[in-house]
Amino acid sequence: MIVMKFGGTSVANCEAISRTISIVQSKLAQKPVVVVSALSKVTDLLYKISDQAAKKNTAGAVELLDQLRSRHIGLAHDLMAETPSFCHDACSRINDICDRLDAFVGAVCALGELSDRSKAVIISTGEYLSSNIICCAMNSKGIKTGFMDARTMIITGNDYLKGEPDMAAIAEKVPGVVSEAYDGNDAVITQGFVSATSDGEPTVLGRGGSDYSASLIGMAIDASVIEIWTDVDGVRTADPRKVENTRCIERISFEEAAEMAHFGAKVLHPLTIEPAVKKNIPIYVLNSMNSEGKGTVILQSSFIEDGVKSVSFKENILVINIFSTKMINTSGFLKKVFEIFSINKVSVDLISTSEANISVTVDSSQNIDKVVEQLSEFADVYVDSDKSQISVIGKNIINLKGLLSRTFAPLADCKIYMISQGASYVNLSFVVDRSELTDAVRQIHKYLFENESCN
Ligand code: ASP
Ligand code: MG
Repeated sequence: MIVMKFGGTSVANCEAISRTISIVQSKLAQKPVVVVSALSKVTDLLYKISDQAAKKNTAGAVELLDQLRSRHIGLAHDLMAETPSFCHDACSRINDICDRLDAFVGAVCALGELSDRSKAVIISTGEYLSSNIICCAMNSKGIKTGFMDARTMIITGNDYLKGEPDMAAIAEKVPGVVSEAYDGNDAVITQGFVSATSDGEPTVLGRGGSDYSASLIGMAIDASVIEIWTDVDGVRTADPRKVENTRCIERISFEEAAEMAHFGAKVLHPLTIEPAVKKNIPIYVLNSMNSEGKGTVILQSSFIEDGVKSVSFKENILVINIFSTKMINTSGFLKKVFEIFSINKVSVDLISTSEANISVTVDSSQNIDKVVEQLSEFADVYVDSDKSQISVIGKNIINLKGLLSRTFAPLADCKIYMISQGASYVNLSFVVDRSELTDAVRQIHKYLFENESCN
């Protein structure tokens, strides 16, 4: 069996869905489990609907709910114009889902109070709509397709908007649900992003979580491959929106991909790698608009050559500098510091320490007020904002002669605030002023990837 996940742009409209269905059709021999996102921009629309509801703006919510319904009904007609009975089935499923959502949002509007649980119900509707329409459309084209509700198998804890998967429960449930849905069918389909607690309460896996759903399912059924179909030709050497002459990377290791996903390359949800690693399942990143392309394959490290694979970055970070003379020659100081980050659920990216100083970076979207307040009780704390982090990523980069000089040579005039090279030898990261980021990333990329003598 294989898992094929299609993101929002691969299911955006009639043309994209038709392409997606042909891709699935070409792989029926491998028994695909299809995982779909909401149509492109639909999850954003659902967030807006929940905002309107929380503000008790019924008229605003209704207008957006109507847009949601008419886009999906219009799509069903476009897709199944020649097969009226399938179109009829799809429309009645859409109307059913939309009627329930209208009533639910109406109730939230009346209360004017939006719990995380209610929000999970609202924002997961996009995946239910897309998976139902695509299921009908696949059947209308002669691909007998079974439907699965992700809430019966993707089990999480009760953080409603960022459910933590219960791997054991998922591994136990998914194979049964998949084989039952497969009975007599050529393919099966389910929703990405959508999950539930063991008591069946609705949760979701967090923004962009459909990739994660795909790899959780892949792990649970021991898939031979996990395919992530998106709208780019694979993983690139840098973000092409910032850097010219980037190249598509043919193969990278799980470790390299994990670092890249975390440090900015938006191709994969960062947690996608972990379930695949557990079962050593290759992940392909492929372009549904160029299905003949090779894409990028993510494999176990032993199949991957040494060397720099990418220059990634995080644009908005904060550097927290913690200074205390109490740190000198004592033990347990670091524990005390990181306990504060842990209690306040602030996640740390880079760490660098010296005798009396610890510097850490955190994503600037996190609220660090409490952390700073609590650290200040026993240390001097200074926060540097407007900083960006650049990471040079590649297997065993430590073995590359002159990596540091090559990386930093183009940055002669740029201030470097913090440097960290993980012992994993996969990642060399450092911090620069945000105003220097674009220039720095371009120059490093040029130096590392466009200079033949360096490769
Ligand atoms: N539809 C969800 C989102 O936009 C999940 C996903 O597409 O992966 O975040
Ligand atoms: Mg995505």
